Formats: sequence, C-alpha cells, structure tokens
Amino acid sequence: MQHAEIPIESPITRRSRIFPKKPSGKFHRARLIVAFFLFSGFFLIPFIKINGHPFLLMNFVERKFIILGQIFWPQDTHLLIFLLLIFFVFVILFTVVFGRVWCGWACPQTLFMEMIFRKIEYLIEGNAGQQRKLSEQKWTNEKFFKRTIKHLLFVLISLTVSFVVLSYVVGIEKTILWLSMKAAMPSFALLFVFAFALIFYFVFSVLREYACTVVCPYGRLQGVLVNKDSIVVAYDRFRGEPRGKIDKKSPTNHGDCVDCSLCVQVCPTGIDIRNGTQMECVHCTACIDACDEVMAKIGKPKGLIRLDSIQGLLGRKRFQLNARMIAYSFVLMLLMSGFFYLILSRTDTETTLVRAIGQLYQELPNGNISNLYSIQVINKTFTPITVQFRIKNHSGQITRPDKIDISGQSIAQDVLLIEIPSGDIRQMKTPLQIEIIQNGRVIETVSTNFLAPVSKL
Ligand code: SF4
Ligand code: SF4
Repeated sequence: MQHAEIPIESPITRRSRIFPKKPSGKFHRARLIVAFFLFSGFFLIPFIKINGHPFLLMNFVERKFIILGQIFWPQDTHLLIFLLLIFFVFVILFTVVFGRVWCGWACPQTLFMEMIFRKIEYLIEGNAGQQRKLSEQKWTNEKFFKRTIKHLLFVLISLTVSFVVLSYVVGIEKTILWLSMKAAMPSFALLFVFAFALIFYFVFSVLREYACTVVCPYGRLQGVLVNKDSIVVAYDRFRGEPRGKIDKKSPTNHGDCVDCSLCVQVCPTGIDIRNGTQMECVHCTACIDACDEVMAKIGKPKGLIRLDSIQGLLGRKRFQLNARMIAYSFVLMLLMSGFFYLILSRTDTETTLVRAIGQLYQELPNGNISNLYSIQVINKTFTPITVQFRIKNHSGQITRPDKIDISGQSIAQDVLLIEIPSGDIRQMKTPLQIEIIQNGRVIETVSTNFLAPVSKL
C-alpha cells in the first residue's frame, strides 16, 4: 500500500512530514467558494464603515471595542463574555450535530494551510510526489531556488496577515498611514507585527497539521462531543470490506474498497479514515472527493466515504435529534436571549456614583443636610452629549453640578452634591435613586445612599 508520509526530520521534532496529494472534486470546489468568502471577509472588514465608524475594531491597547459600528467599553465586558459563551456553545452544538466541520471548512488554521500555503507549495514544488522527491534530494540549485521562493512568499503572507490583524486593533487608517510611511510606526505596533508574523510563519511552515492534531484542544474534545447521531466523515465499512484490488475473475470476492489508498494520500493530517473516526480528522472531505472519483471510475455508487452518522452507516435514520442536541440548543437559546436583552437594555451612558471619601454628611446653616459624591459618566456614543441629574424618589435637590458636557467616546468626572431638608429625613441611611437626563429624557438611573446624623431624625 502506498503511504502519504515519509520520515523526514523536522527542525522541531522527529516527526513524519506529510505530503498530501492535491485535492480535487465537488467538495473541494465547495470549500474553495467558502474559503473565498471567508478570506474576502477577513481582508475587507477593516475597510467597512457604519456611519463612519469601523464595522469591527478590537483595540485592546485603548480598551475600546467597536462591533457592528457600536462602541463597547471595558464596562461592557459582560456582553463580550456572553458573545464568547454563545460562540463556544454554538461550536459545541455544531460539533454534536456535524462533527468537526468547523475545522475543515471555517477554521483559520485549515483555511490558511490548505487554501493558501499548501496551494503555494503545489504551485512551486509540484504535487505530492514531486514535493517528496524535492525533500529527499540533496541541496541543488533547483531545491535552493524553489525553497527560497516558497519561504519568501510565506514570509510575505505572514507579514500581510499581521498588518491586517493590526488594522483590526488600531483601525485601517492608522495601519495605512504607517504602511505608507507618512507617520512613524510606534514600537508596540512594530513589535506586534513582527511577533505575529513570526508566529504565523512558524505555524504554517513548521508546525502545520500539528496545530490541529497536537496543539488544538478542540480536536480532543471531539471524542466527548461526537456521538452516534453526529454527522461525520465516515467510511462505510459494511460496503467497503473486505477491501481488495479488483479481481476481474471473481468481482464479488470483496467489498467496494479497492484499497487504492487515495483517501490516505489526500489526507492533510495523514490518517486512514477506514480505521474509523479519529481525533486527527479535520473533516476536510478531501478523502470523500478522492474516493468518489475512484468509485466513478470503477462504476460503483459514490459515497463509500461520505458525510454520515454511525446510525446512518448502520442503515438507520441518518440524523435525529437526541437529548444532548436539545440540551445544547436550549442553553444556546437561553444565552442568546440573555445577550439580546442586555443589548436592548444597554444605555448610551454608564454612570458610577460613589460617596466622596472621608466625609459622611454636612449640616448646613439653612437646616439642610448635604452629602458629597464622586460621579463618573461614560459617553458610549460617538456624539457629544450633555447630561443633568435629578433625585427620583425623595425630596431635596442636586446643587452641583448643574450639567456635565461629555464629548463622544469619552469619560467625564465631577463632584456631585445632594441637599435634603433635615425635616424630610427619616433614617440614617436613605436609599436614593438618581436619574441621568439627556434632552429632558431619563437615560439611566443609578442608586446610592444619603447619610444623616442621628440627632436630626
Ligand atoms: S479511496 Fe475509496 S477505494 Fe480507495 S482505498 Fe480509500 S476507501 Fe478504498
Ligand atoms: S480523514 Fe478525510 S476528512 Fe478527515 S482529515 Fe483526512 S482527508 Fe480530511
């Protein structure tokens, strides 16, 4: 049997380097289309604006995040946590239903590896056999030339991706400004670009499929998540076995698998799917394409390797909802409902009102009691706003500040003074609700306590 791997000492481990055969077929064409849209999204999103603001900006340095043109602050971290939870539960649910489809079709690691880096290798070094030959041969001018061109392209792509990622952090305008050398690039950005590019280059030129089969924890979770109802890339052993070369004299001697090993040769992680669902399988479907081509040639029905569940392989219903799927769906719905509630109830400002340190209260000559507070108002919008304050649930008044002007995406801080006639105070610690008003409309309400001396009760 032909093998897709030969032992070559890698710079980091003594592992077998894999030279997968160039994939082709219906599934590969579909993956190319999906990859095209995903790559287009990745490279174009930094240029997309909503009302003049970025579609997506994750500025961890300034702790400013813009998602779908909406600005989020560190105070909105709970929303980001919700989003992450939704993403993880969605991926888990997706895995329970469709196995590791995410890995083969949407994971950036597989997309860059199979659709960009591997394609460059096919272009420069040829198909699997030629690549293997080049690897085995001594350093000739041809090998030196091909390897240099290949690695130069790898470095160029790594730097390009690094700058694109940078534009997600600092914005496309700054990135273009720095790239065009119209402004000096700060050292943190320079460091980020080179560190990211170096890691990226290392992952795709050295680590390669090891990122999926050894490093990524998601692959290991597969064994826990996938069950007999999950749709996975599966070999139909009932139809395929006993495998064997075509025997024209007694064609009924063996199953449909002609043991051509093409499914192994195309596998980017170097496994044999005929041994059953394995952790290393990234569901790239290359083996399905390869086997379908063989089946077409020998006049057998396609689908000896196919997307199917264990139940389906056993001739039962291919897909059915099970308790685990229902439970994950329920959790996902719950999380999404919570997220949408938080988004809809999100205010344009975020106010923090705390008592001023050191002073409990002050008795004023006019008979009023006053309490001093520190107030901080975050303007989460892009436009400047002016806010005023009012006591909602008690008599008394806010004597300062009269109003606070806050420019867009910024924070204003001030001192707030509340006075209440001593005759209206019934307890030492009176709960107060303070309304934040913009253009006559209450946009937020915060709570605090008002302290008074016992002698005045
Ligand atoms: S490609 Fe199909 S026929 Fe060939 S070895 Fe694999 S399963 Fe068997
Ligand atoms: S077994 Fe098939 S689907 Fe899984 S990684 Fe290999 S080629 Fe891709």
